[in-house]
Amino acid sequence: MTPLRRHRMIKIVATLGPSSSTYEMIRNLFEAGADVFRLNMSHGTHGEIAERHRIIRQVEADLGRPICILADLQGPKLRVGAFANDAEDLREGQSFRLDLDDKPGDASRVTLPHPEIFKALEPGSELLVNDGKIRLRVERCGGDFAECIVTVGGTISNRKGVNVPDVVLPLAALSDKDRKDLEFVCNLGVDWLALSFVQRASDVTEARDLAQGRAAILSKIEKPAAVKAFDEILAVSDGIMVARGDLGVELPVQNVPPIQKRLVRRARNAAKPVIVATQMLESMIESPMPTRAEVSDVATAIYEGADAIMLSAESAAGQYPIEAVTTMNNVAIEVESDPTYVDIIDASRKVEHYTIADGIVSAARELAETTDIAAICCFTESGTTAYLVARERPHVPIIAITPITGVARRLTLVWGVHCETVTGNVERFKKAVINAVRVARKYGFATETDQILVTAGIPFNQPGTTNILRVAPCAEHLIVQSEPE
Ligand code: PGA
Ligand code: MN
Repeated sequence: MTPLRRHRMIKIVATLGPSSSTYEMIRNLFEAGADVFRLNMSHGTHGEIAERHRIIRQVEADLGRPICILADLQGPKLRVGAFANDAEDLREGQSFRLDLDDKPGDASRVTLPHPEIFKALEPGSELLVNDGKIRLRVERCGGDFAECIVTVGGTISNRKGVNVPDVVLPLAALSDKDRKDLEFVCNLGVDWLALSFVQRASDVTEARDLAQGRAAILSKIEKPAAVKAFDEILAVSDGIMVARGDLGVELPVQNVPPIQKRLVRRARNAAKPVIVATQMLESMIESPMPTRAEVSDVATAIYEGADAIMLSAESAAGQYPIEAVTTMNNVAIEVESDPTYVDIIDASRKVEHYTIADGIVSAARELAETTDIAAICCFTESGTTAYLVARERPHVPIIAITPITGVARRLTLVWGVHCETVTGNVERFKKAVINAVRVARKYGFATETDQILVTAGIPFNQPGTTNILRVAPCAEHLIVQSEPE
């Protein structure tokens, strides 16, 4: 039997939670198509997070495929305190006070335990509670309170989130909780760290300093300030998430699709992976069938050339996690075989011949398109060559071969990349080509009569030296004969 591989280019990120915390479920999710598992640090204890992490690594070992783990830090998310009666109904037009008093809340007031916010608020500022379902407008405020008018009413309950879209908040990028969580997950060993509510590039560099190379850094774009400073944030990030949930609360919802399109394009051009997230299959939390509109939304992200699409509550807390992953997998296979998809992807490619490496990956893609090539295989120590090949969005699968397990896991998030770790002597080019052919054939990317492209940097073990493009026949006796040492 051919070992496990994907039959699509886009990757699937599945958030783990109460609905998906057993070995059996996590393994089934992976087999159904989840390439990356998200551990959401906003929910769950460190004990639960560690247990899910252990199970993922167990599935990885049992199936012999690298699995990517993304730990999502909560970030400076504001929340109200608790209520004496757990919840209260707020009516439009009534007044409601936020303050620093830690007494349980009632129908007239509740704690907002963030002193810095009161300093940043002004009369007229808007506060959105519970994903924007409730709106408050500040009438009067001081150092420890804000008197508000309810402009849109609804039920407010314990620890609901608060968004303040029109103010750049004087908040540190990482709360004390985030710093503890970061240290905890880096010690467990995760591949990507997602930063919530990034506002400026320095937020990213701060996290990078703490992570010290133990994980790649992905910036979640969910604040108007981050959209404005996107180019600077992208420059210092390893990847991007279009976090449509909070983005659609902080900005009018109709602004989200154009921002999604722009961010996906820019991240693609920068050869950095981009995830489209939130409410992709929202109705599948409770239904085994998606709506047509949701299927269309998933398809749109695929046509845009995003690296990955993400499930949140659908896989973490819903009733149909496997069906949700299967739906994404099926939509991806269908869309990617549509000739219009190929046209759109080709038209949105931006090829920039800045370096030899850029030229080599571009030549590899052109050759693969115009001749009979089954796959592009790259040897990579840092992952750089694989990111560059993926930026080309070639029509054939990309195989990344690396001696470093952590690099293989990180690359699992990237469009079209099938990762394989090799051990032992990878110093010689001939050996590298033989390895490439073996992997291509083992996973059914190529047969004996095919040929593949191999890119590498010689000498080996020097990152950023991609300088070889070789056409290799897949019949083993031919390589052994023809390959120079
Ligand atoms: P969240 O981020 O699920 O952590 O809120 C994603 C989003 O806001 O879309
Ligand atoms: Mn969010």
